[in-house]
Amino acid sequence: MNSELRQAENLTVNETRLLKRHGRAAVAIMAMHTLLCLVYYRMGDFLISPQWGAALLIGVWVSMAGYLLLMASGLTLRFRDPSLSLPLIVYCIAVFVVSGYYVDAFRLSVVTLFFAVLLLVSFQLSGKVMIGVALLSSAAYAAMLWLAVDDRGVQLSVSVEALQWLVFTMISISFAITGGGIYRLKNNLADKNRELAKGLEQVREMAIRDDLTGLFNRRHLLEILERQKALADRKRVPFSVCYVDLDHFKQINDRFGHEWGDRVLRRFSQVVLSDMRDGDYFGRLGGEEFLLILPQSTEEGALLVAERLRKRWREEAFSQEGGPASVSLSVGVAAYSDKESIDDVLNRADQGLYKAKSEGRDQSRVA
Ligand code: GH3
Ligand code: MG
Ligand code: MG
Repeated sequence: MNSELRQAENLTVNETRLLKRHGRAAVAIMAMHTLLCLVYYRMGDFLISPQWGAALLIGVWVSMAGYLLLMASGLTLRFRDPSLSLPLIVYCIAVFVVSGYYVDAFRLSVVTLFFAVLLLVSFQLSGKVMIGVALLSSAAYAAMLWLAVDDRGVQLSVSVEALQWLVFTMISISFAITGGGIYRLKNNLADKNRELAKGLEQVREMAIRDDLTGLFNRRHLLEILERQKALADRKRVPFSVCYVDLDHFKQINDRFGHEWGDRVLRRFSQVVLSDMRDGDYFGRLGGEEFLLILPQSTEEGALLVAERLRKRWREEAFSQEGGPASVSLSVGVAAYSDKESIDDVLNRADQGLYKAKSEGRDQSRVA
């Protein structure tokens, strides 16, 4: 995929930006969790020993740092889900359940943070996985309650706790269903994105290509020339042009038909394309006129290229296809000279072409 296509793919959903936001959101949620733990601890509601409490928070932040580093390293880009949403949510369930176990009075408030993570991962996980996650969290919540009641049953109102668990489960499942919708929406958007990118690429191709031959069209050739001129003026890199015109093409059209003429034009394009050097540009100016742009070439070099092309094209025979034995061509060659305009260099090439034509065609000339 070329860079333009990739750029265009980012038009509606920018995956990298989404990934960064994902990391930031995960950090924010974990920071809120740490803050809540500290507040509850101060209030005496976090019934964990200081050592275990510190171990829990340090563990949380060490693993968060690992997660962020992994994402920043770009290693996860090779995975199907670069945001590691499933491991992240399972990890959060574990953290929230462990801390929820120790906070009787405000259990639901700690666990509520879980919904924030659920919302976050719904961009990356399908509806089915989200339901699985909701059920897992519900089961983990139940297990946590079980242990808490077992441990400190006297202080707890089992019916209230059970009701809270039920509410939590229902909210989780509805989040999962909505999340599945978000995921589908995101995927649809990504599909649309790709279509749009392809369409854009097609439009761009159409704008720079000639219909008949598929070569660069006149407009694009002029753009390339402007670029070459800028390069030549700035960095003194020479370039030359070969103005190519097929000889007596009108006669060929008249004798063998316009369609046959079209076939010759297409064949000519293929011959040049297969024969030319990488880094050179070739396009159709219009009619039976073509332009070869040769970066880094002097006039002598360009003349050699033109002669080689002329002879190569001479070998192409059409008699078996009911056409002429061969079609010749004439070339006008010009090298760009400092600070002149594109029109000037093209005019000089055209003068070379005129010379080639008036001296009998089937040859290459400089002005
Ligand atoms: P010269 O050797 O002086 O170049 O003679 P010529 O007949 O090639 O030049 P002229 O400019 O008189 O005619 C060019 C012809 O090219 C006229 C037209 O019939 C033909 N032509 C232009 N565009 C197309 C095209 O797209 N398809 C076909 N088949 N012929 C084309
Ligand atoms: Mg012509
Ligand atoms: Mg011609």
